[in-house]
Amino acid sequence: MIRIYNTLTRKKEDFVTLEPNIVKMYVCGVTVYNDAHVGHAMSALVFDVIRRYLEYRGYNVKHVMNYTDVDDKIINRANALGEDPLALSQRYIADYNKNLSDLNVLPATSNPQVSKTMPLIIEFIQGLIRKEAAYAAPNGDVYFSVTSEEDYGKLSGRKIEDMQAGARIEVEEAKVHPMDFALWKAAKPGEIFWESPWGKGRPGWHIECSAMNLAELGEQIDIHGGGNDLIFPHHENEIAQSEAYTGKEFSRYWIHNGMLQIGGEKMSKSLGNIVSIQDFLAKRDADVMRMLVLSGSYRAPLIFTDETQDAAEKSLDRLRAALRAGRADLGGLSLEAASALTSQAEAAKQSFIEAMDDDFNSPLALAALYEIVKGINTARDGGANAAQLQPAQTILRELTDVLGLRLAEKTGSSADEARVLALIEERNQARKDKQWARSDQLRDQLKEMGVTIEDGKGGTTWRWG
Ligand SMILES: [Zn+2]
Repeated sequence: MIRIYNTLTRKKEDFVTLEPNIVKMYVCGVTVYNDAHVGHAMSALVFDVIRRYLEYRGYNVKHVMNYTDVDDKIINRANALGEDPLALSQRYIADYNKNLSDLNVLPATSNPQVSKTMPLIIEFIQGLIRKEAAYAAPNGDVYFSVTSEEDYGKLSGRKIEDMQAGARIEVEEAKVHPMDFALWKAAKPGEIFWESPWGKGRPGWHIECSAMNLAELGEQIDIHGGGNDLIFPHHENEIAQSEAYTGKEFSRYWIHNGMLQIGGEKMSKSLGNIVSIQDFLAKRDADVMRMLVLSGSYRAPLIFTDETQDAAEKSLDRLRAALRAGRADLGGLSLEAASALTSQAEAAKQSFIEAMDDDFNSPLALAALYEIVKGINTARDGGANAAQLQPAQTILRELTDVLGLRLAEKTGSSADEARVLALIEERNQARKDKQWARSDQLRDQLKEMGVTIEDGKGGTTWRWG
């Protein structure tokens, strides 16, 4: 039985779907006005791993991720660049899709966009007005009335009175209650707009997700996900809108990932420490980002530093090395030892499943994989041949696939290769001069570059990995 930590109830719960074997999962996507960064990558990878694991456990996952292509930030950026806002957002959608595919994130079942959902958004708002959960203000805005929902604040655990006391709220005369939020915003001069019963305007941010959920997945869904920065107000407001509209429970489970931190700090424009996905991938393999995500609890902050990235590289090297085929020409292990290796891998697979069943505990799942790695290494040292290693390697590959790790063998640039050859040359000279310490040091240096060398009769050979 899979158990999931539900933000709504603040506890782990058995995962029971609305329909047998089908998971309806909606994850809030990005607002497309700039290059996506590693924080976006983290969220995409968390939900990709969850989806892959649910599929591994036999579920058919309908995974919807929206694109916010109509928003103040997009309009401002488009104005600054003198570009049409929808053309700008289409450009960034294409970029982000490329980022996700580079990161080996499975494409969502559908990627709805605000600009293409307008009739339904308007219909949704009209429905809320009919149910007296929303009202049209004289200035052409439409607001959701937070006091119309008895349990407003249940996801974030806030009460309307406390929110008012604590927050600095801009007093807008058009609002009946200061916490009411916009469903529809009247267009300012020169802004992109759509026609509506309330005049020219565009939707607020929260309503799009409620409308897209309804359009793509129906009135009720199994999992709603996103970063924990979306709990309030975005997800709180989504619940209020959707439940006011349908009268039914909106999402059974609410899953929120922690935030990525550069060093010990929040990534932000003002700190100037934003790392784009593209810049990251120019330096590191996509598996490194995924390994960083898997190495911690998805709910905890992800500490992004050179050190944590190097550690992730090392973990990947261990997995890659264990998956390399054994030699056919070796004498082989005893039959008992070979079958013990296979049973050990099968037991580790069970531990992997138990760990992932427990709220997708990926650090524990990785620990199970390293048990298999250890077994393979010991067997290799004991003279296991290719056929004896293979059953354990097949299990290891199956499980790394579940996590979405590619584990492709490394290849270097020609500049790297020249450097490798120079170091090997230097090492051969050191050996000739019987400078063994120096020779070992150079071997270690090569190893750190991801190079394995073998000294044979014909000289030294080397390969990546
Ligand atoms: Zn959303």
